[in-house]
Amino acid sequence: LAERYRAFVDCPSVTLDGASVELVANIGSPADAEAAARGGAEGVGLFRTEFLYMGRDSLPTEDEQYEAYAAAARAFGPEAPIVIRTMDIGGDKELPLLELPKEENPFLGYRAIRICLDRPELFKTQLRAILRASAETNVKIMFPMIASLREWRRAKAVLEEAKAELRAEGRAFQDDLETGIMIEVPGAALMADRLAKEVDFFSIGTNDLVQYTMAADRMNPKLAHLNDPLQPAVLRLIDQVIRAAEREGKWVGMCGEMAGQPHAVPILLGMGLHEFSMSGVHVARTRALIAKLDRSGMGRLAEAVLELDEPDEIRSEVESQLSWLR
Ligand code: PEP
Ligand code: MG
Repeated sequence: LAERYRAFVDCPSVTLDGASVELVANIGSPADAEAAARGGAEGVGLFRTEFLYMGRDSLPTEDEQYEAYAAAARAFGPEAPIVIRTMDIGGDKELPLLELPKEENPFLGYRAIRICLDRPELFKTQLRAILRASAETNVKIMFPMIASLREWRRAKAVLEEAKAELRAEGRAFQDDLETGIMIEVPGAALMADRLAKEVDFFSIGTNDLVQYTMAADRMNPKLAHLNDPLQPAVLRLIDQVIRAAEREGKWVGMCGEMAGQPHAVPILLGMGLHEFSMSGVHVARTRALIAKLDRSGMGRLAEAVLELDEPDEIRSEVESQLSWLR
């Protein structure tokens, strides 16, 4: 952690004009949670649970998963929000254990919620573990790769089944724990107004949202100019998603890399993003940045950049209003 951000490890996340936001971390293990808490994160905005499933020869049991989720939450204390994403196997994250057929286009393939909805036993084990962890923590559930209302509703139905099972067994869990979805497929972003009526929150996954919006593989360095979250098409989708959630009184976070990028943060703040989730090492730097920004001014900046045509123009506009950012 750079010395100049040390003062921003332990202070609240507020803008110059007193607006509060939430700065939380992306983690892949309980050890990451401890490091992120030391770095100043207020909780977890994305727990990538795939890592529990990878590099082993059997699936993790409900108890093992429960331990991992509860341990991550313990690193922050009982009130801190801990958003646990159900497994996102597929795409770039392979799991030989599931013996999935080889695919031509894994990023457009059988992954994440698409697998979970076909394998209710696998899915329900994870949901039961998360629910049990909610008994003594502020755990929230998030479904990845949702592309349609049907997928969201089916996933929610499996969650309700898991709750009914635990209830029948007399096990403790938080019945009204928040349940939301990632917005990382353009189809979901375009349906955000309808989805917002049913979910408790959205978390925008720009790593995938950018690649799917621009049809540019996120792993291909030749396509970096397209794989840019400041592409106006991406900014339009993000703005629409935030507006849609606002109309239904739901909160919106972001857990893609963009949420910690210095040129993007002022725009996202201006659009009204509430929760910024990033690698733990970027939290203090982002808090220092937010402390220098005025939310209403950033609202005008967001409006201005939405009128521009090219990522470079957008970057220049941000720098012209915030000359110290350069
Ligand atoms: C994303 O797609 O932005 C995201 C946060 O998920 P992942 O990087 O794990 O695909
Ligand atoms: Mg993703």
